[in-house]
Amino acid sequence: MKEQVKPRVAVSKCLEFAACRWNGLKISSGVVKLLKPHVDFVPVCPEVEIGLGVPRPPIRLTAGDDGPRLVQSDTGLDHTEKMVAFVEKFLSQLGEVDGFILKERSPSCGMKNVKLYPGPGKVQSLGSKNAGLFGGPVMEKYPGVPVEDEGRLRNFTVREHFLTSLFTLTRFRAARDAGRMAELVKFQERHKLILMAYDQVKMRELGKLIANPEKRPVREVAADYRSVLLAALASPPQSGPVINVLTHALGYFKKGLLPAEKEFFLESLEQYRENRVPLGVPVAVVSSWIVRFDQPYLKDQYFFDPYPEDLIEVTDSGKGREL
Ligand code: SF4
Repeated sequence: MKEQVKPRVAVSKCLEFAACRWNGLKISSGVVKLLKPHVDFVPVCPEVEIGLGVPRPPIRLTAGDDGPRLVQSDTGLDHTEKMVAFVEKFLSQLGEVDGFILKERSPSCGMKNVKLYPGPGKVQSLGSKNAGLFGGPVMEKYPGVPVEDEGRLRNFTVREHFLTSLFTLTRFRAARDAGRMAELVKFQERHKLILMAYDQVKMRELGKLIANPEKRPVREVAADYRSVLLAALASPPQSGPVINVLTHALGYFKKGLLPAEKEFFLESLEQYRENRVPLGVPVAVVSSWIVRFDQPYLKDQYFFDPYPEDLIEVTDSGKGREL
């Protein structure tokens, strides 16, 4: 029986939670909507928290001597100090979260694609590769924790990776909080194929930690394990290792399958390699075999259902696998 876990995720409040944008609007986000029943969301609107009203004059990032400033676009009224103080306090009180979903391009919440201007008024931007005054500190203070913006989450591959790492980290938190070595061992066993797909070197490192030859306290092992796990899940898996995992899974069904079934599966792997079908296609084939043959080892592997089934969506922003 697989555990159901609920990730704790901090989210920009204007995404599905409140009409708190500068223009008094709320943003519709398919992924936030889908996640609501499965996640404990912590909604926050940094701009409202520092006392800016709704609606309010728009603000922007401008270049300053010590880094970007947050100023009112028309007048240059500077909100930087208030925002920095709020963010510091909020993040220090937030506690452990399993991930963040942020509003894209916002001078406060944006994580990486925010426009920077030379000053207020009608001036051309200097580029759009900056983080907002909330999004930036989030990335710094939670290294390795899944942080995405709602725009990037419209991309199928980005979303798949985000959801896999989010739910994997949440299951790890549950295993760690149980405070027993046996739970960590079980976590490692059931995530073997996910780890194999993400990072084999880190997978072996995690295996050594779990073996715990020095009989260190569970809490210490778990802390080290989490650091390595975060690093292992930092980037989406490459198609090569994923195909190796699926080929390895095929080995469990050698005797029961018809040659045509194997051929169909290998063809779907090839199509996945060529980016013509999503990973879900070959995974669905193996999942059907797991049910048919009641394969006990693969049945327990989260690789085949890393997050709740109703979060699987085939829509895509059309940006393919570009990250
Ligand atoms: S992007 Fe962030 S600061 Fe702006 S309205 Fe949304 S939650 Fe508030």
